[in-house]
Amino acid sequence: MASRIIDLHTHSKASDGTDSPSELAAQAAGAGLSAFSLTDHDTLAGIEEASLAARRLGIEFVPGIEIAVADPCGELHLLGLWMPPPSDAMLAALDLFRQNRRDRNIAMLERLAALGMSLTLDEVRTLSRAGAMALGRPHIAVALREKGYVSTAKEAFERYLGFGRAAYVPRNLLDPEEGLALLAGEGAVVALAHPCLETSMTPERLTGLLAAFKASGLTALEAYHSAHTDAQTRLCVELAAKHDLLLTGGSDYHGTNKPGIALARGAGGLRVPRLLLEKMQAFREEKGLCLPPQGAFTL
Ligand code: AMP
Ligand code: ZN
Ligand code: FE
Ligand code: FE
Repeated sequence: MASRIIDLHTHSKASDGTDSPSELAAQAAGAGLSAFSLTDHDTLAGIEEASLAARRLGIEFVPGIEIAVADPCGELHLLGLWMPPPSDAMLAALDLFRQNRRDRNIAMLERLAALGMSLTLDEVRTLSRAGAMALGRPHIAVALREKGYVSTAKEAFERYLGFGRAAYVPRNLLDPEEGLALLAGEGAVVALAHPCLETSMTPERLTGLLAAFKASGLTALEAYHSAHTDAQTRLCVELAAKHDLLLTGGSDYHGTNKPGIALARGAGGLRVPRLLLEKMQAFREEKGLCLPPQGAFTL
């Protein structure tokens, strides 16, 4: 019988994962998944390669993206699933994300230099072996380790790069309404990713967010995620039903950049049923979101 398990949240080298998109597709097939999505941060650069590899391997592929939006308590993440080749508005947004990341990376490297750690953007790229369009803190963390300033990437976050630490610089982010409109405007299924990860999230706050976000284009909630406890998953399932939102789920696999998180299985107990994907597909058909591709993903 065909596998009934899927993984709709993964990262490749195109952002801050460590596998190439085709390696990811091969792993997804090897793990017995019937479908997977590549949801790199702020870029669609890996989609073409993942899609071709998935077709070769006979595994269903959902083109995706993950973007961050501003939140008073830090940042929230949105997933766009079934992303089409980018519109002009999306291309402009991807450019803006790249520029914002670049400005922020440079500012963080300046802070590190002031702390006595010299590191250039080129070194970050080379030392982290990034193919990355969306270079960020995980790459800086690996570079700091490779230069011997810290012994692990985790230590780099704890001492310098984590929220509020000595070299931390916030990134310019879209407002939630802008992010939701951007993804909804592409015709994607728009999900709020791992809503319970933000430490300050409460059921009351999440309820308020879902009502507001739904009005701006939210269609789904990522209830199943490696970092969600059973109780958090249950809360998400209940709130999704209350707000008439679809459900999605995935491992948030990053290769060796997130030790302990496996594709498909997450921290061990994850198991995302294919039924969720079928419900989202039925929704897309009902809403006429199943348009044929209009262009190429090559950026
Ligand atoms: P950026 O997109 O550059 O802000 O980097 C965010 C990524 O860094 C997240 O997707 C996480 O994978 C990783 N990250 C954030 N905080 C930590 C932390 N405290 N320890 C390890 N990794 C982290
Ligand atoms: Zn990431
Ligand atoms: Fe995320
Ligand atoms: Fe992610």
